[in-house]
Amino acid sequence: MADKRDYYEVLGVDKNADKKTIKKAYRKLAMKYHPDKNSAADAEEKFKELSEAYGVLSDDDKRQRYDTYGHAGMDGFSQEDIFNNINFEDIFSGFGGGQGGFGSIFDLFGFGGGSSRNSGRGQDLEQVIDLTLEEVSTGVSKKIDVRHKKTCPTCNGSKAEPGSSSKTCSNCNGAGQVRQVQNTPLGQFATVSPCPQCNGEGQIIEKPCTDCRGKGLKSTVNTISINIPAGVETGSRLRVSGEGDDGINGAPSGDLYVTINVLKHDLFRREGQHLYYELPISYVQACLGDKVDVPTIDGKTATLSIPAGTQSGSTFKLKGEGIQRINWGKDKGNLYVKVHVVVPKKLSDKQKEILKDFADESGEEISHVKHGFFDKVKESFGN
Ligand SMILES: [Zn+2]
Ligand SMILES: [Zn+2]
Repeated sequence: MADKRDYYEVLGVDKNADKKTIKKAYRKLAMKYHPDKNSAADAEEKFKELSEAYGVLSDDDKRQRYDTYGHAGMDGFSQEDIFNNINFEDIFSGFGGGQGGFGSIFDLFGFGGGSSRNSGRGQDLEQVIDLTLEEVSTGVSKKIDVRHKKTCPTCNGSKAEPGSSSKTCSNCNGAGQVRQVQNTPLGQFATVSPCPQCNGEGQIIEKPCTDCRGKGLKSTVNTISINIPAGVETGSRLRVSGEGDDGINGAPSGDLYVTINVLKHDLFRREGQHLYYELPISYVQACLGDKVDVPTIDGKTATLSIPAGTQSGSTFKLKGEGIQRINWGKDKGNLYVKVHVVVPKKLSDKQKEILKDFADESGEEISHVKHGFFDKVKESFGN
């Protein structure tokens, strides 16, 4: 934005000009630049600039602040604050505009007015559903119960008891809103608010529908089916169009948002499209190698070959046994199997003998701890 021009300069008046002179100057220029009377591209900007200058200079407090601090003194005031000072009716009295001649001043400035009126669209609703990892892996069709406000079947949303009549509100003539209009030569200076007599309905209902107590909507539980694609994650949100609350007076229904919560799985840990599984194997399997059946998310098993000499903590990949990525074709992630070598806690005498032989064969010296020492240690730890 270019530097703001001096307000006195904008209105073409002297710094010491009295109120009457300022008003006269504004009146003359505002008539010239009102965008409905002046089609120049910058007329609207000029008109706003003039009105801002006049709004400040016509108010003793604001004028004093401006004289002392310049534009910086006006920082605390919005344009709306300043324009609200202006009594347009007074300014333009005697100027023969009248209705239809000019647009609403509030429309021109882009604030206030009736444009923000509630459309009556139904409320959006939210629901969380739990899914097992198995359901996530295949995708699933789920039936859920939704409590939402739907058009009352008795009055069909009219809010009136069937057979009873409703009459047009005399206060607003059915418009549902009342305009407080200041007629100025610049047109209607209007504020719009819901009619207090009919609560903005436009109609006065003589006998409210007993089924919905005159609301037009009734809380109902419906079972709906939703198709959940494979690969969703905790926090994924699905929109079910139109399953929120119904709108009023024929306005569109809101939507239902279903948020996914994936339950923890007993066997698998998930990271994105990959799954992780921890597999215990014996020392012998680790040494000699083996083929092991590993459970998979589809309820079947996959064969994992453990090579001879596998170290505890090694991870093996079973390609394509993970989860499909949502909306990503049929490609699935992997199942990573981390093996743990489990050391047996109890050995038979024969197993011990064999292991001693094994140690001898490996040239390993095993120092024999006397029996009874362990028991003492156990006691000291309280078990
Ligand atoms: Zn009803
Ligand atoms: Zn009314």
